[in-house]
Amino acid sequence: MSSSAAAQSLRPNDLQAYWMPFTANRAFKQAPRIVASAKDMHYFTPEGRAILDGTAGLWCANAGHSRAPIVAAIQAQAAELDFAPPFQFGHPKVFALASRVAALAPGDLDHVFFTNSGSEAVDTALKIALAYHNIRGEGARQRLIGRERGYHGVGFGGTAVGGMVANRKVFGALLAGVDHLPSTYNRAEQAFTKGEPEWGAHLADELERIVGLHDASTIAAVIVEPMAGSTGVLPAPKGYLERLRAICDKYGILLIFDEVICGFGRLGRAFAAERYGVLPDMITFAKGVTSGTVPMGGVLVRKGIYEAFMKGPEHAVELFHGYTYSGHPLACAAGLATLDLYVEEDLFARSAKLEPFWADAIHSLKGLPNVLDIRTVGLTAAIDLAAKPDAPGKRGFEAMDHAFHQFDLLVRIAGDSLVLTPPLIVSEAQIGEIVEKTGKAIKAAA
Ligand code: PLP
Repeated sequence: MSSSAAAQSLRPNDLQAYWMPFTANRAFKQAPRIVASAKDMHYFTPEGRAILDGTAGLWCANAGHSRAPIVAAIQAQAAELDFAPPFQFGHPKVFALASRVAALAPGDLDHVFFTNSGSEAVDTALKIALAYHNIRGEGARQRLIGRERGYHGVGFGGTAVGGMVANRKVFGALLAGVDHLPSTYNRAEQAFTKGEPEWGAHLADELERIVGLHDASTIAAVIVEPMAGSTGVLPAPKGYLERLRAICDKYGILLIFDEVICGFGRLGRAFAAERYGVLPDMITFAKGVTSGTVPMGGVLVRKGIYEAFMKGPEHAVELFHGYTYSGHPLACAAGLATLDLYVEEDLFARSAKLEPFWADAIHSLKGLPNVLDIRTVGLTAAIDLAAKPDAPGKRGFEAMDHAFHQFDLLVRIAGDSLVLTPPLIVSEAQIGEIVEKTGKAIKAAA
């Protein structure tokens, strides 16, 4: 490094080196939106301006930010056991956390495979599905079915089963043998619905068409989000998930719920599977398991799937898959403290109780300029704005930028949709504040 480069690197506000993920880098670096600290419902800019967190960070800080018990648990864990090798060795907290997560899950979803992110959880679940069929002598079951407008992270598997055009189109052929169900969203039929729309259960029957095309003997698994978050809060229509489950049962296809967003109280229950009374074969989770404090994800697996692998010589590895940081001690400590906090503060029930108030408050934005649709379910909401002519995404971007710089609110965008998903500790007064500030941002971007 030259001496001038070294001097440059000391400049605290040099924004160039960092290539930001899923970000308009050039626009950001002209007018940065930087947060330097956080507490409970707020972020704080380096200058100390308080920003109300309308998005739980990125759908993850369900318990709010920098909560004392979680911070203390992470600090203590770093001093006690910084790392333990996860292959062939274990540490106490990883077993404790697996038991706690399994206890929250419905039915016999009683085994947990840990990963470090939602993307890894998804790719892990897809690989378990393929391996499960293979070891049972049904190795022809290799096809994976996702859904249009689904988001399953950014690994090759998750990108392939995902249904977001921009996330796929420049990355080549991805995985072979992937099909997509149609999106469950139809504005003409569903606009301004609170909760699950009445229309759309029949779209699950498209799985029958795909089975008819390829034959069930070639299909390994279907993966869907019970509520598709990243394309703007698209809740499953009433009866849709039940229908999907029935068709999967009929043909021996595994059903995976991607609950990376839905899990840990976002839809008023530990998992959305419980809200909908539908038992999938696997659930992927991440984000809320540590309230976003330490990266962690995982896959909940039904007993029969786990047991299918527990065959052969006992000294032999049963599944050739895992990550150096699977069940990292810091993540496990954070996870255990987070789950304690969810129980102590009854945050899942709180989320369920707030849902009607939240829905009414958000839907009051109907009628503001450019608002085409509003959807709410659990403690989530999306507000679709009309795109500017010839500049898709610009109005949404401007509303998000105004919200941060002028109105002290963090909102998230999906194209021209504003997405709101506050921490589950949000108060009714803060919901009012979120709505008021969002309304101002919508008007400012009109
Ligand atoms: N699956 C779903 C449903 C998600 O919403 C996300 C992220 O938002 C992911 C997977 C990917 O998670 P991560 O960003 O932790 O890899």
